[in-house]
Amino acid sequence: MQTLAGAPATTDAGDLPALTRPHLLECSDCGQMQHLPAVEPGTVARCRRCDAVLRRTRRDPFGLPFMLVVTALLLFTVALSLTLMGVSTAGIQHSATLFSGPESMEAHGFWEVGGLVALTTIGMPGFMLASLLYVMVGLRSPHPPRHMRTVLGWVERLRPWAMVDVYLLGLFVAYVKLQPLVRIELGPAFYALCGLMVAMVATAALTDPEALWDELDRRGIRPVTAAGPPGREGVLIGCHVCHQVSRASEGSRGVCPRCATPLHRRKPNAIARCWALVITSALLYIPANFYPVLTLTRLGSGAPSTILGGVEELLAADQWPLALLVFSASIMVPMLKLTGLAVLLISVQRRWTTHLRDRTTVFRIVNTIGRWSMIDIFMVSLLVALVQFGKLSSVTPGLGAIAFGAVVILTMLAAECFDPRLIWDAAGENAN
Ligand SMILES: [Zn+2]
Ligand SMILES: [Zn+2]
Repeated sequence: MQTLAGAPATTDAGDLPALTRPHLLECSDCGQMQHLPAVEPGTVARCRRCDAVLRRTRRDPFGLPFMLVVTALLLFTVALSLTLMGVSTAGIQHSATLFSGPESMEAHGFWEVGGLVALTTIGMPGFMLASLLYVMVGLRSPHPPRHMRTVLGWVERLRPWAMVDVYLLGLFVAYVKLQPLVRIELGPAFYALCGLMVAMVATAALTDPEALWDELDRRGIRPVTAAGPPGREGVLIGCHVCHQVSRASEGSRGVCPRCATPLHRRKPNAIARCWALVITSALLYIPANFYPVLTLTRLGSGAPSTILGGVEELLAADQWPLALLVFSASIMVPMLKLTGLAVLLISVQRRWTTHLRDRTTVFRIVNTIGRWSMIDIFMVSLLVALVQFGKLSSVTPGLGAIAFGAVVILTMLAAECFDPRLIWDAAGENAN
């Protein structure tokens, strides 16, 4: 273990009471073990070595997030049950709900893409909200259920896969592309989705996961998979899900006493797994750009459109801000992710000792931006659902959509597999 560091960077808590519990934690970005002293609500504690946010304490960690989750669930129910968008041309009308995109992709034989859209826009947001509500209601009940730790652990893991915010941007792109073709009416589900996005972003911003874990500890709720008491042997290992530091031997199959996640000092086989995913994504990136993601057929003649072609169409329609957005999300982001991860992997393997903080920042950026590439996939699913006017005009999905969807998912998984602490290990900064 290295020297203990870590201190609140900003404190504006006034005379609020209740300090947090002082505890040992490991920075998940650089691997430095540090004692976090008792801090006041409204404090941001940062890692002294790499500047990662270690903890953001909240003045009201249970009340406000609870209200937000309830609001978000109500809005989600509205978004699921009402019309999202209606289009009409030549007296024919079509409307779409959140389910229409996945259903029509499946009807065209693109079940993989349909499943991906359904999972990221319906399955994951629903799971996240229901799980958070379960934990927050459980914490208020006299006999909280034991599964709460496992559920909270999954909320932490699956957070990036709920993509309501990205979907709304995809919907916006679809709206602009539809404008010259048909008359469009936005339905109540669209407004509910906008509210849901705000509520979900606010929930994530105002929740202090560490406070939830602390409260579970205080209530004496043990994980379902009973973990043994922390051993006296071995090294200090920070759980990569709940960030609790336990003492265990590497490879001893120990599990985190707080959330029952298997304990590893570093993510297992991070380099090999990450390389495998980066190389597969890079290969798939070729058909993703070569094949059309959709084909618009008007009066019998088809116009296939690749990802880059879609950007050109937006430029031709004088929608340059949107063209820039789609170009960034669909072309720049995947390239940046693949190059960034490859450079990080090489830097770890070659044991570079310089630019440690810069490389950690590169990892943070790569990890955050990846999900925004889904814009094009969401846009295609909406166009396929809405533009079905027989011989007049229709949109069919193309092979490029499958390859591109796979690139987005694999690059997201690659970033999750990579362990930024290896950057600091390779430079000899974490003598454990
Ligand atoms: Zn750090
Ligand atoms: Zn844990």
